Amino acid sequence: MSETVINVSELTRRFGAKTALVSVSLSVARGAVYGLVGANGAGKTTLIKHILGLLRAESGSVRVFGLDPVADPVGVLSRIGYLSEEHDVPGWMRVDELIRYSRAFYPAWDDGYAEELRQAFALDLTAKVKDLSKGQKARVGLLIALAYRPELLVLDEPSSGLDPIVRRDILGAIIRTIADEGRTVLFSSHLLEEVEQVADHVTMINQGRIALSAPLDAVRQSHRCVTMRFAESRPHPPAIAGVLRWDGGGQEWTALCRDGSGELHEAVASWGARIVAERVPSLDEIFVAHVGMPAASAPDA
Ligand code: ATP
Repeated sequence: MSETVINVSELTRRFGAKTALVSVSLSVARGAVYGLVGANGAGKTTLIKHILGLLRAESGSVRVFGLDPVADPVGVLSRIGYLSEEHDVPGWMRVDELIRYSRAFYPAWDDGYAEELRQAFALDLTAKVKDLSKGQKARVGLLIALAYRPELLVLDEPSSGLDPIVRRDILGAIIRTIADEGRTVLFSSHLLEEVEQVADHVTMINQGRIALSAPLDAVRQSHRCVTMRFAESRPHPPAIAGVLRWDGGGQEWTALCRDGSGELHEAVASWGARIVAERVPSLDEIFVAHVGMPAASAPDA
């Protein structure tokens, strides 16, 4: 059995009257890349802050490498590379000073890898961090999170607000990191196509609850989009268990259903309709079906 790096069990978190996490359980296996997907305000950062020990579990438990990150911050954080959502890096330093400063904390700092990343990210060593663009700051933050080859890399919205080239760089860096045997990545995103490209496992979070958490292949294979044509126009789609979402109108309706479409096929025949198309839905469509709105266009909470 694979080793568990992160184990979150029944974690609930309130901020005053607002419940940010509701009985969240998550188990992250060593060597896997986990994509945490959710709309703005879904609870991604709150979950990540618990994993880093920046927030204490009010109810439920959090273990990282088998340790409580609040009780043993050094034991946990020395093994984690972290890039926060704000990509916050000290602005008054120059890039080379920041690299020297950071490497002093980590005995396993890899100079060769740091330089490789610096070149790949086209970072000017003499530039002041505060003068860098948001994308360049993200690259610096990522270099520092990666260069000591941590056992666990935690990235909170690594590509938020970044242009596609930087995003591609970041994805490339994640992929290089996971290529290093046995390392684990947890990253949050509202970009489903990004998660689809790099994650082995997807966890969808909606209003503080886990809506779906499974290996990416299993998520895709357990959902179908089935388009059917009815003999006559219908104002509403028919009611059937297992259908998460209906789209369409008139004579043609498309059902997104889970766990195979056998029941739907039988029902279609009994309605006198016929199936005109069937396909595997995108992760985006699956997210919308479970959560009710696109991750990238959801309103702020
Ligand atoms: P985003 O994609 O916008 O960063 P998120 O999924 O990371 O969102 P969180 O930042 O975890 O979401 O927030 C979850 C909920 O908890 C939101 O409603 C947020 O307003 C609330 N929240 C988070 N931190 C605090 C805090 N310190 N005080 C009060 N409410 C908070």
